[in-house]
Amino acid sequence: MIRAYTIASGKGGTGKTTVTVNLGTALAQLGKETYILDADVGMANIGILLGLENVPVTLHEVLAGKAKVDEAIYDGPAGLKVVPSGISLQGFQDANPDRLREVMHDLVDRCDYLLIDAPAGISRDGVVPLAIADEVILVVNPELSSIVDALKTKILTELVGGHVQYAIINRAGKDNLDFVEKKIEKSLGVKSLGSVPEDNHVRESAAYKTPVVIKYPTSGSSRAIKRIAAEISGCE
Ligand code: ADP
Ligand code: MG
Repeated sequence: MIRAYTIASGKGGTGKTTVTVNLGTALAQLGKETYILDADVGMANIGILLGLENVPVTLHEVLAGKAKVDEAIYDGPAGLKVVPSGISLQGFQDANPDRLREVMHDLVDRCDYLLIDAPAGISRDGVVPLAIADEVILVVNPELSSIVDALKTKILTELVGGHVQYAIINRAGKDNLDFVEKKIEKSLGVKSLGSVPEDNHVRESAAYKTPVVIKYPTSGSSRAIKRIAAEISGCE
């Protein structure tokens, strides 16, 4: 069984953090022991999205060798467990991304699913999460530049010994959904886990520091994410 997924895309702003937080919450709602880990150590957003931005210990301290991972685990919604990164630049500088593998192994032993939110780009801290997960899920927007960046990320992942089998299409329009999905599957050589529509509820729920799957459970984005969670956990 696949347990550790890295959520990646190449480009910033495609929805990696949104997918990590909401898919993690949806898996937790299904009764799965789920952890999310903010491996975007430079531009940490998970803490901000879940109201955990002021916690005393984060992944930064763990990667700097100053704290144990147990000290950086916090309760999120629906039983989700959250390991946020810190928002200080100094913390980022002190964090050693090579320690991520150790942290991942420690967390994965405790749970059914571990979702790792990857940074954009191909820096060192961006490459490690691609290499260490069982599977990488590419978050792709239905536009050419996003598809090209996702393809680069797939190639890079394979170069560093990782696996990419799946994509989630985020911010999908209403038209030609099937066609767009098939085109992305073909261009990237991956299987789509589903399309999440462009949905204002995503931004609105962020203002409440609550995942959209909890704040607006019947919205289009929530229903799509819950379907993906059910597919991943084989409950459908
Ligand atoms: P990334 O982590 O890839 O940089 P984020 O998850 O932070 O991307 O999302 C970038 C922005 O897009 C955020 O403001 C988020 O609220 C918005 N967003 C993400 N997914 C959707 C969606 N399906 N519909 C509308 N807005 C979205
Ligand atoms: Mg992000």
